[in-house]
Amino acid sequence: MTRLSFYGAAGTVTGSKYLLEHNGFRMLVDCGLFQGLKNLRQRNRAKPPFEPAKLDLTILTHAHLDHTGYLPVLGLRGYDGRVLATDATCDLCSVLLPDSGHIQEEDARWANKRRYSKHDPATPLYTEEQARRCLTTLRPVPFDKTIEVHDDVALRFYPAGHILGASMIKVTLGGKGGEKTILFSGDLGRCARPILPDPAPMPECDHLLVESTYGDRDHREEDPVGELADIVRQTTDGRGCVLIPAFAVGRTQSILYMLRELMREGRLGRDLPIYVDSPMAIHAIRIFMRHDEAQDREMRTLVAHGGDPLGLRTVRLCATVDQSKALNDIKTGVIISASGMATGGRILHHLKRRLPDPKTCVLFAGYQAVGTRGRHLQEGADTVRIHGEEVPVRARVEVLAGLSAHTDRRGIVSWLKDRKKPSSIHLVHGDPDARTAMAGYVKAKLGYDTHQPDYRETVEL
Ligand SMILES: [Zn+2]
Repeated sequence: MTRLSFYGAAGTVTGSKYLLEHNGFRMLVDCGLFQGLKNLRQRNRAKPPFEPAKLDLTILTHAHLDHTGYLPVLGLRGYDGRVLATDATCDLCSVLLPDSGHIQEEDARWANKRRYSKHDPATPLYTEEQARRCLTTLRPVPFDKTIEVHDDVALRFYPAGHILGASMIKVTLGGKGGEKTILFSGDLGRCARPILPDPAPMPECDHLLVESTYGDRDHREEDPVGELADIVRQTTDGRGCVLIPAFAVGRTQSILYMLRELMREGRLGRDLPIYVDSPMAIHAIRIFMRHDEAQDREMRTLVAHGGDPLGLRTVRLCATVDQSKALNDIKTGVIISASGMATGGRILHHLKRRLPDPKTCVLFAGYQAVGTRGRHLQEGADTVRIHGEEVPVRARVEVLAGLSAHTDRRGIVSWLKDRKKPSSIHLVHGDPDARTAMAGYVKAKLGYDTHQPDYRETVEL
């Protein structure tokens, strides 16, 4: 008997968790945090709908917290088994999970400071220390190699092109009930992007779980590189600074690559000062350079021939607080810093100092969620509140489109077509509207019926 239960990313984009049970073997696929709305976040604190202590194995598609951030809780609730993921995913988790614990400790401290009642103190979901402890359960596995994890269960990880180390995972089940295969798409990246490999062609499978984040749209054809060149040139010609709030993992590296290419092609001056001001982004860059197996061929070739695809010989990496403070005195250049939505981190100091200066350009390079400072700026706020102060916004604010790390509905359909039709397709990792739109699109283009699982639904395969 084979059962699949949807314990996250069912009708939402966070909390990815699927329990696969086969002939007594119990495996959790992804172990993500719920994020965003409060009723979703409360699920992180509730008793899980399965027993962590009874799991035989956990596997991860990639390092984003909505796929991994629940791992420390799993440990606290009794799971002491292994966690398999690609080598780069394991390395990224070793930075992201302790950081997640640290942020939760800070949030709890902040909440307690503002609260009058001492009877119901806020507690972190897990601490940095607890997150560090769970890292010892991670076991790296290679791409494109079949791994037997049980008499009746084998796994194979394929590149998904979404972030460094991201994979889709094919599970082959045997023994009683005959052989069947299940493919977990994870988050699928886009083709022909720099740095990362394209998603692998869809491995044939009997049952498919596929993401539907952008199930209701096609990415427009944008030219982020050209836009970046224009904005940087205009701002630095006017002796101003370009401030880029960017996610430490992924976006920072893509922007460095784009800037490097523009300098190589002579579209930007070779003496353009570029600063990365985020300890986490610097960690991620090092992890990135270490894992050539997770880079695309162009990047690997460049590095093998002594090239410098991210421009690290000239980019200044600011790890210490003093290095960060020294940036207050620079007149012109590009400063890339976290967090990507300007909700915290060192970017806040730079914004506070430079937003009142009309020579500055703040360039957003990713999605800005509702309610964040990034979103307020993007929507043209006259002032923003930073560290308790109203800061006037006289800087120019721009948005660089076209850098999404997810494919769109067209990408999903072209990935699905020309392969054997799976006997069941389950749409996951999409908000309700996007997912319903995706179902309609797949039906219209390929004639396939799909299933939209509910949270806590179980199906037999
Ligand atoms: Zn992701």
